[in-house]
Amino acid sequence: KLHNTILELKGNIRVFCRVRPLLPDDGPGAEASVCYPTSVESAGRGIDLIQSGQKYPFTFDKVFAHDASQQEVFMEISQLVQSALDGYKVCIFAYGQTGSGKTYTMMGRPEASQQKGLIPRSLEQVFQTSQALAAQGWKYKMQASMLEIYNETIRDLLSPRSSSGDVSRAEIGGAGKQYAIRHDADGNTYVSDLTIVDVCSIKEVSNLLQQAAHSRAVGKTDMNEYSSRSHFVFTLRIYGVNESTEQQVQGVLNLIDLAGSERLSKSGATGERMKETQAINKSLSSLSDVIFSLAKKENHVPFRNSKLTYLLQPCLGGDSKTLMFVNVSPDPSSVDESLCSLRFAARVN
Ligand code: ADP
Ligand code: MG
Repeated sequence: KLHNTILELKGNIRVFCRVRPLLPDDGPGAEASVCYPTSVESAGRGIDLIQSGQKYPFTFDKVFAHDASQQEVFMEISQLVQSALDGYKVCIFAYGQTGSGKTYTMMGRPEASQQKGLIPRSLEQVFQTSQALAAQGWKYKMQASMLEIYNETIRDLLSPRSSSGDVSRAEIGGAGKQYAIRHDADGNTYVSDLTIVDVCSIKEVSNLLQQAAHSRAVGKTDMNEYSSRSHFVFTLRIYGVNESTEQQVQGVLNLIDLAGSERLSKSGATGERMKETQAINKSLSSLSDVIFSLAKKENHVPFRNSKLTYLLQPCLGGDSKTLMFVNVSPDPSSVDESLCSLRFAARVN
């Protein structure tokens, strides 16, 4: 009961925390820096972070411990995905430092079926359900787009130019009117020049995801390093018409793998790296400001402070639904970053 009241007060914003397992690289004999309280009030929702013997307790809508499977995590979001077919605008974010499990949560390892992440599982559900609903007269049309935001500049990951490596124009900040973001009165978003592809099957979207991954990797010596500095935004637009009742629905599903939230030491970052860090900090703090003011139902919501929040504006306010994963590493050497991440998430929760 109490739980429901909290969700109502917060509107449609939820925060789930996920801790990844310890990995061999985490250091020999590393002891996890987190534990999970088992009291009745916080079971499954609480997490305690241990830093230098001090305990920092946090509570979220849901906490997934290191042994939670991809399937278990998906079960908790499948209703949210479903609501995009019912005409809602949905955003699911993964937030956390590099190496905390954001990409594992969103994409997983698609080649291993047990380890597929939320994006492939959500798409499977969307296509399966839309086919099942055909029996009730529903016809769906779906469109996919994929972009990244790097240094406050949008890059189209499905443009033929991106995958051929000719990215110079898009990488120069503010080059012309490229990828200008516009919203119309009905809450539809247009990004000029962005490639939008009609998709009819999971196979088609999988191919596009591969193309996007290829575009992201082109010309990068260290793909992981690069991808951790940019936001990846997958968007599926869903248009449904019921041929017998003439009902219409328009939903949007946005799945977002955010840039790493780690703070670079002030002395270490110079030049390009400094600019990157400032851009990431700016967009992540704008995201937090936006979600915070939405949750508090403030009149002014600062959507325009970053590309990311402006792009997603219609999908964050109103009766849209937002879920943020805060991904946490149990590695003791990450404990300072983990504390920052949990505090960030607790602010928007
Ligand atoms: P990020 O995208 O936040 O930088 P990754 O998703 O790449 O982090 O995760 C870092 C490493 O941890 C990867 O090798 C990934 O496969 C592994 N990993 C993350 N979460 C899990 C998990 N829940 N179970 C197993 N391995 C995981
Ligand atoms: Mg990643």
